[in-house]
Amino acid sequence: MLGGPIPFACMAGVPERLAAGRTLSFEYFPPATLDSRQRALQTATRLARRHPDFVSVTYGAGGGDRGRTREMVAHIALGHVSGRHRCPVVPHLTGVGHTRAEVRALLSDHTEVGVRNLLALAGDPRPGEPVGDFRYAADLVEFVRSETDFSIGVAAFPELHPDSPDRRTDRRHLAAKLDMADFGITQFFFEPEHYRRMADELTDLGCTTPVLAGVMPVTNPQSVKRFAHMNGTHVPEDLWNRLEAADTDERLRIACDQAASLISDLVDMGVPGVHLYSLNVPEAAEGVLDRLGDGYFRVAA
Ligand code: FAD
Repeated sequence: MLGGPIPFACMAGVPERLAAGRTLSFEYFPPATLDSRQRALQTATRLARRHPDFVSVTYGAGGGDRGRTREMVAHIALGHVSGRHRCPVVPHLTGVGHTRAEVRALLSDHTEVGVRNLLALAGDPRPGEPVGDFRYAADLVEFVRSETDFSIGVAAFPELHPDSPDRRTDRRHLAAKLDMADFGITQFFFEPEHYRRMADELTDLGCTTPVLAGVMPVTNPQSVKRFAHMNGTHVPEDLWNRLEAADTDERLRIACDQAASLISDLVDMGVPGVHLYSLNVPEAAEGVLDRLGDGYFRVAA
């Protein structure tokens, strides 16, 4: 079993932070070029001043940017574990195309840099790619549990996963997966009702695992629309018309206003935490938090 003493510092994990109050977290992705990766690390350093409860780093399904994720996790972990603001770094890991031995090796690398929390995902196979040893996210959760003492998060889709045959089946699989996990994080969505409905359905199924709301300030409407289409996320037409007609400064303003308003509604509903998809753009996350002001999140030490 991997785990044991944390090399850099002892710190509360995601479940302990959720137990202490509403969490704030940021998501980063590891870009392809060295320059962009440097900028992403600068973004993480800058946003550390906002005291996130944890930060996550995405993973290329099929292992395309596997090395980049591992490297960025290590860099951010160094900053967040030994830097001024200490918080967990949560790598994403997709099971698709991986063998157990590969995942074991990656978990070992993450453990070396102080990682103790992970987001376990199925991932989407590339055309012709074999499924590997992990068909569903739940298979990966089971394996990571057997190999580590990590806390484990999973994905949730308020508007249903696009592969699900119907709502009931989606919610049944989601509740079963959440029951095995410590927390969930949603796909982005723009209307708070989607979160409320999902939360009610999970409660009806007896599921009590906290699910953080994933919120995306839309600074890049073209690519977000593409992702939304792939994920089955409903895109409000009026918002998109305004974003697409705006210049860069105005777009940032609209994006921050919209995300702050959504978070405010979600907090009124009692969400356990908000996960901001930063897209490595510090101004967007900062703009959202500035609009919200104090008192929305537990201020992490
Ligand atoms: P699963 O939970 O396995 O679900 C996938 C589908 O299978 C669903 O329709 C579900 O209902 C169904 N299902 C589950 N269990 C069963 C079962 N036992 N029998 C039959 N059907 C079943 N992708 C990346 O490549 N890299 C990332 O870093 C990344 N990060 C993400 C972060 C978040 C917060 C979210 C919401 C998504 C992320 N994704 C990422 C996308 C994700 O990998 C894809 O959406 C993928 O298609 C589904 O992943 P999952 O973990 O939800 O899969």
